[in-house]
Amino acid sequence: MIPVSHTPLRITQLRQRLRDLGAKPCHEDRLLRGWSQVCSYDRVHSPAEDFFPLALRNELPAIEAELYGLARLKSEHGVALSPRKPSPQPSPASGRGGKCEKPCSIPAGEGADVARLLVELHDGQMVESVLLPRGGLCVSTQVGCAVGCVFCMSGRAGLLRQLGSAEIVAQVVLARRRRAVSKVVFMGMGEPAHNLDNVMEAIELLGTQGNIGHKNLVLSTVGDLRVFERLMEGLAHKPSPQPSPACGRGSKREKQSSIPSVKPALAISLHSTDAALRAKLLPHAPQIAIEELVERAEVYARATGYPVQYQWTLLAGVNDSDAELERIAQLLAGKYAVMNFIPFNTVDGLDYRRPSAERTAYMMGTLNQQGILARLRDSAGQEIEGACGQLRARAVSEIIH
Ligand code: SF4
Repeated sequence: MIPVSHTPLRITQLRQRLRDLGAKPCHEDRLLRGWSQVCSYDRVHSPAEDFFPLALRNELPAIEAELYGLARLKSEHGVALSPRKPSPQPSPASGRGGKCEKPCSIPAGEGADVARLLVELHDGQMVESVLLPRGGLCVSTQVGCAVGCVFCMSGRAGLLRQLGSAEIVAQVVLARRRRAVSKVVFMGMGEPAHNLDNVMEAIELLGTQGNIGHKNLVLSTVGDLRVFERLMEGLAHKPSPQPSPACGRGSKREKQSSIPSVKPALAISLHSTDAALRAKLLPHAPQIAIEELVERAEVYARATGYPVQYQWTLLAGVNDSDAELERIAQLLAGKYAVMNFIPFNTVDGLDYRRPSAERTAYMMGTLNQQGILARLRDSAGQEIEGACGQLRARAVSEIIH
């Protein structure tokens, strides 16, 4: 019997447990594929009951129970989705013979719905995930956040704990049990740079067994040198050959590498080009010169072929001035980048306002005229129950009072 873990579960730990049960890389991969894609472990001519080692088959119900308990839906807010008929739970004894080459989810594009999910973790802590249009999902990487952005509810109570990589993937699994997920953005509660090992592990799994395209995995950061270093390491990495799917006698176990093979797209939370103002808005973000931040992001964008997505929460009278607009135009001229303006949504207890629709349109038009792609991103899901972290804040306060 595998003891239930009380620390955030990492995928490396899960893989080790599987190995302790006699699993080879092909067994690990098939199990992780079935879990992360919410589909059967069976393959044509290779049912799971003949494929997995006996010790693993015997432990599978306990492992599955633990995995599905990592992230449970506490509540859902927003446009109601017709709940997807839950996939039959893969079972080594099922013998269904289903082919597991692609997600069993419904096709991307059918789910144009937006909903915020309050997700309960195995220890009772809560985070938020957001179902985005066109198969997108925004996941949390920490409980709380240490950056303390003044316009965000997630950072109000500081950082409470890190999420394990398996808990991050479990949010995708939870969403995929409702509808297709073909894009994952790491922009929910938490600063991914502060939990980089777990975030990169989750990205690695989602971009391989999870069947999500690399450019559709979007790693967001306020700008942290560790992120750039790790991403640049990944660019130099050549993935080693996949182990034999047949798990033949000659198949060798791949040495686990901490260097990622999956190259995610990059998003930078900029919010101001004025260093002093940025330091006030993002009080605990690393103090990297904005020009350096943009330059490092540019190198990565050119190397991967995915534009950098700059995030800019628009606050009326704070960061929507003509001076900011001019500096954005200078900073991003000729850059492989997209500016995403996200008008602020009113939050109880915060005095900020969003600029008028006319002002927002003027800012976008001015940048677009200068050849800088600027888009309006309504903070998807934020109309529902306010800003990121507010659902959790409300749930916690209901528990306390
Ligand atoms: S906006 Fe992001 S980085 Fe800033 S406090 Fe909120 S969760 Fe943390």
